[in-house]
Amino acid sequence: MKVKVAINGYGTIGKRVADAVNLQDDMEVVGVTKTRPDFEAKLASKRYPLYVAKPENVELFEKAGIEIQGTIEDLIPKADIVVDCSPNKVGAENKAKYYEKAGIKAVFQGGEKKDVAEISFNALANYDMARGKSYVRVVSCNTTGLTRLLYQLKTNFRIGRIRATMLRRVVDPKEDKKGLVNGIVPDPVAIPSHHGPDVKTVLPDVDIVTTAFKLPTTLMHVHSLCIELKESVSPDDVISVLEQEPRIMLVSAGDGFTSTAKIIEFARELRLRYDLFENVVWRESVGIDGNDLFVTQAVHQEAIVVPENVDAIRAMFELADKKESIRKTNKTLGIQKVF
Ligand code: NAP
Repeated sequence: MKVKVAINGYGTIGKRVADAVNLQDDMEVVGVTKTRPDFEAKLASKRYPLYVAKPENVELFEKAGIEIQGTIEDLIPKADIVVDCSPNKVGAENKAKYYEKAGIKAVFQGGEKKDVAEISFNALANYDMARGKSYVRVVSCNTTGLTRLLYQLKTNFRIGRIRATMLRRVVDPKEDKKGLVNGIVPDPVAIPSHHGPDVKTVLPDVDIVTTAFKLPTTLMHVHSLCIELKESVSPDDVISVLEQEPRIMLVSAGDGFTSTAKIIEFARELRLRYDLFENVVWRESVGIDGNDLFVTQAVHQEAIVVPENVDAIRAMFELADKKESIRKTNKTLGIQKVF
């Protein structure tokens, strides 16, 4: 029996999660939703049963000649779980409006507040805490990137205070209604940015403070971290620990990975939609000065949370243990050592 998955919100994250779920042998997509009858809705209707997220918009789809199977209210009874990929804060509204009433499990995304769900989730850090849960929030792209890296470091070395700066892509590539053309925006101006507290929703025992800046770029975020070491460690020790985790990819400036532009150019050859599900860590950035470990990584915001959504579903239905779920997700998404 496959778990039947509904994707409410077939946007940047939703379409990727739908395709990832579709690759698994223990779950299937029973429908996806859109509110507007645009080209993405036309494409969605050719790949998956399409439903209308806002029932009052059905007529718009009919007028546009897009085949629909009904509304979100028709989709929910066909599913065992909803992965809510609607815009920030809309997931909480959908929970109150639909999921609680229907008594259906739901996965939420990082744009929701932490109290939308019973737990905030990252597969490496706390897979077991999601076992059997009804509501789980997969943390944001930046928090996923930070959590994976810090989990791998803290399970292998004794670490202390973490200071991290997020250099954030201002919008996703498709977003033509907003953006930042000229300037760098402290986001926020005063410490801390929300990322540190968000990491602590998954890794409560880390001592972290973060700052963030928005930059006029769309491709990836970059994180610059400084981690206090409480034992003697060499850069090679750190690299070898990071190499053991398939969801962390190490690249080298010496191979031409001189910027996020080059990383994305590489990913264009590697994957559909140039999706990088992995943290991308520059080997040369792993350096130690006194007790401080420095690391720089890039995060493809459109893709990094996709494997976590698949693993969250497995944990919530107890379909597999952590190791097996991650192994299956990695295999189907092509997450493996490239270099
Ligand atoms: P998006 O590209 O704007 O997609 C949102 C989707 O939700 C669209 O398909 C939209 O359909 C649909 N939608 C709008 N109103 C809805 C409603 N009331 N009910 C159900 N669906 C509705 O947004 P996104 O970037 O995928 O973000 C989704 C979530 O993932 C957010 O919580 C965000 O914070 C989180 N997240 C985003 C990123 C990222 O970088 N993009 C990374 C990690 C996490 P229409 O277009 O038809 O209106």
